[in-house]
Amino acid sequence: MHRRELIAALLTGLASACAPNADPVAPAPRGTPRVKSRGEARARLAELAARYEQTMREHGAYEWARYAGKLDEGAEAKRKMAALRAAERDVFVEARGILRRFGEAIVSPRRADMWMRGAFGLDLLGDPRASELADELEAVINSHRYELDGRVLTSAEILDMRRSDDPRVRRRTRQLDHQLHLKCVPIATELVARRRALARELGKPSYWAALLEVRGVKVATLERHFNALDRGTRRPFFQTLAAGRARAFGRPLLFPWDLDHRVKELAPIPEARFAAEAALPTAYRLYRAFGADLENLGVTIRDFAFGGQTIAVQVPDDVRLVVRPLSGLKFYALLIHELGHAFAATRTRTNEPLYKAYEWIPGLVDPAFAEGVAETFSRMLDVPAVLTRFVGLSADDAAAVARRRKLETLVGIRRSLVAISFERSSLERDGNLDQIALDAERRFSGTIVPRDAEPVWAASAMLATYPVYVQSYMLAAMMALQVRAALSARFGTESVSEKAGAWLAERLVSDGARWTLDEKLVATTGSVLDSSELLRYLITP
Ligand SMILES: [Zn+2]
Repeated sequence: MHRRELIAALLTGLASACAPNADPVAPAPRGTPRVKSRGEARARLAELAARYEQTMREHGAYEWARYAGKLDEGAEAKRKMAALRAAERDVFVEARGILRRFGEAIVSPRRADMWMRGAFGLDLLGDPRASELADELEAVINSHRYELDGRVLTSAEILDMRRSDDPRVRRRTRQLDHQLHLKCVPIATELVARRRALARELGKPSYWAALLEVRGVKVATLERHFNALDRGTRRPFFQTLAAGRARAFGRPLLFPWDLDHRVKELAPIPEARFAAEAALPTAYRLYRAFGADLENLGVTIRDFAFGGQTIAVQVPDDVRLVVRPLSGLKFYALLIHELGHAFAATRTRTNEPLYKAYEWIPGLVDPAFAEGVAETFSRMLDVPAVLTRFVGLSADDAAAVARRRKLETLVGIRRSLVAISFERSSLERDGNLDQIALDAERRFSGTIVPRDAEPVWAASAMLATYPVYVQSYMLAAMMALQVRAALSARFGTESVSEKAGAWLAERLVSDGARWTLDEKLVATTGSVLDSSELLRYLITP
């Protein structure tokens, strides 16, 4: 997933390949599998792995059609999706049954781990009521049109409003978000409550902790990174963003809706140099320099619930993108990010279906790793030499863009802290979710959240469709900086080159999900995931 963060025109050449569920999965046999020996159990698991991949292909085609606006979202589509989810669940429930009966040693530890985590991930995410609510919430967000004075606003226009020099316009953006929030809040509240109840039914102390572990992250590890980034970025955040500002309680007098404008004011960039029509060709050029031709993928540019979504319908040779139309630097970063997911999927060389990192079953993909690969490429926009070479900027303009990227990252880290903290609290305890959200914002955003600030937490498709995912972006930024340092150490001034691209393809992505994020990072950078490179980057003026 990628996927989101950012935000129409159609360039796709794959329309004919998109009909979802052209070849529906036959109903899986229910009940105890009739396997009698370890050998039969092993063979059955291999069949289930092939069946798993078939469901992933159908699921990917369905999601692509939905996001690309090519799905007739009626009762028939819903019924097909429900049947597909049931088929996926049958695969994992049967595999878990086999492993419990014959012992996990009948397959490699990694495979056993993925089967068990996938089964548990579906217990957590496959709950029919929660899925229904999540779909409903996403549909509300998808169909919502932001309106101001009777006119519909595009994503790009709202982004401009967030950066407006007029504080009243900036304040309006919060109210616009709040309008969507009000539509979403009844469904979102029930969804969060259902997830909390589900954890209790499964005997787990917390839905959040349980799903976090399914997603490959230990609670203690996340807490360590969270605290390191919170502490380590406070001073540069306040020093930079407070420069010349009035203060209240030691903090710059900034409201949450002022942040994007403040970043623009402190680090102006030549936005006109980032023409929307040049974004895709520029992104392709960057990947070509890494030795990767990604120009044959279908890219649909369209306003939808997420920033972007790269869908691997079949790894490695059917990968499609849907991306929100934006303008300027953010659109470049978004496209390069999404194509980074495509780089990973198209360079995966494993034949084992479980290792192909399809994203539809939690536990079968490590999202921090997937996002980290995408950010490894997108974060090349931090590097002045890359900006001069690929965007054609002057040295001065490149330095200005590099500075903007750093400030945006400082702000982005604090937004991640708010989102992680809110999601954790909301899933761990009962309470007034509006209040929990505003408390998290007060504690971690680095801004002054006034008493009349409207809650906006429910207006997020991430919460609905990708619960306990948002920490992945923070971890991905850490990984990207760590990999960038390793690229510099190994390739020096040739960090963007065919050699470097081949190395990334081979070492980082070719074996798919065969290894964990930490194992991959030890192999490529010499150490497990660590915040020190990201902190070093953010602290250096
Ligand atoms: Zn992504």
